[in-house]
Amino acid sequence: MLFDSLTEKMGETVRKLRGVDKITEKNVAGAMKQVKRALLDADVNLRVVNGLIKQIKERAIGAEVVPGVDPGQMLIKIMHEELTEIMGKDQAPLAKRSDGQPTVVLLAGLQGAGKTTAAAKLALYCLKDKRSVMLIAGDVYRPAAIDQLKTLGDMINVDVFSMGTDADPRDIIRKGIEKGKENKIDTLIVDTAGRQVIDAKLMKELKDVKDISKPDETLLVVDAMTGQEAATLTRSFNEEVGITGAILTKLDGDTRGGAALSVQQVSGAPIKFIGVGEKVEKLEPFIPERMASRILGMGDVLTFVERAKEQMDEREAEKMTKRMMEAKFDFNDFLKQTKMISSMGSLAGVMKMLPGVGSISSAKMAQAEAKLKLADSLIKSMTVKERTNPELLYSGGSARSRILRISKGAGRSRDDAEDLVKDFLKMRDMMSRMSKQMVNGQGGPGGS
Ligand code: GDP
Repeated sequence: MLFDSLTEKMGETVRKLRGVDKITEKNVAGAMKQVKRALLDADVNLRVVNGLIKQIKERAIGAEVVPGVDPGQMLIKIMHEELTEIMGKDQAPLAKRSDGQPTVVLLAGLQGAGKTTAAAKLALYCLKDKRSVMLIAGDVYRPAAIDQLKTLGDMINVDVFSMGTDADPRDIIRKGIEKGKENKIDTLIVDTAGRQVIDAKLMKELKDVKDISKPDETLLVVDAMTGQEAATLTRSFNEEVGITGAILTKLDGDTRGGAALSVQQVSGAPIKFIGVGEKVEKLEPFIPERMASRILGMGDVLTFVERAKEQMDEREAEKMTKRMMEAKFDFNDFLKQTKMISSMGSLAGVMKMLPGVGSISSAKMAQAEAKLKLADSLIKSMTVKERTNPELLYSGGSARSRILRISKGAGRSRDDAEDLVKDFLKMRDMMSRMSKQMVNGQGGPGGS
């Protein structure tokens, strides 16, 4: 998977830094050596790597140590910020006109980069953004490009304007845009000619097409598998034709991903989208911050924290942690937490955002979801007293009859109810031990 090896190496560095109690020139230098090697191995441009390392070092060594924050964590935060910065910092959105005229998006690129596929992907993306779309088939050089675009257009129910392979691309584009205006289409996506290599003729044609169509976006489609090439190609296109951004394709493939880190720095143009598969829905907006988290092996943990924060204010969280530590966590707390999870999306969605959880199978996820539902129904048929005193359901004279009543009320079996109580008490015990460890040792089991 993308960045696997980069992430793994970054992860190693990060682990080594955990528990370091001071940021010194020596431990920063050691870590940076590893980071540098990892980035170069991932095919990131040398100049970009050097700039990045210098920046991280400077900031890390000068960094004020914040009480309570592990210096290792601090360094990770700096690396995260700097990685985000070199990828363009903020997400660069797709242009959208608001004057009633169609937004014109030109796609350029070398043959095989995935331009035609990207045209259809982008069309689908626009449909999801509630825009009406038309595709214009302007790649008259690659024999099958027009048919391919038509097939893809049919699949997503988007009209494809074409005049065959004999027409001049300039005419096709001129007429296509006229038609789009007549039909009051919001976004016109133009597939332009691709060539095997950059040559003067291709550039001239692109410049002409740009003059005619006055595009709001000129996006270069580049293949991430070409590694360093991707960034230099983007620079050439930007210098010669002027582009507003890039679509980096095939990031799902066997690529080391370095292009994602270099394009913005080398070319000055932001990556706007990434292609992550052959299928037409496999296009994602490029969000530098998320990509940085992925590289550092933080999963989408930041998104997770953000969403969790929205759902639960800090005081509530503190209260909950305290209850966990004191093993006072009861079924009411449990319900609150499951409610929070469901308001954040499905359990599977939440779990996927956590680092290291990405690989749990969907069957297992479905099982876990079902278990949560089961727990929910059982807890809801408990009395208030039972919810606040889970032990009542485990020992004592009335436990058995309580269990029977609850399972009946929830329409579940007695075993289901007994298992829930046992699992809950076990979990509570474990949570209490773990949260104590976290508070004492900063970083949980295995931390220092
Ligand atoms: P064009 O010559 O630039 O128009 O390239 P195509 O759109 O025909 O794509 C070339 C090949 O790359 C096709 O086999 C596509 O299915 C494949 N492709 C395009 N984008 C992606 C992507 O994001 N991931 C993967 N794995 N394959 C892609």
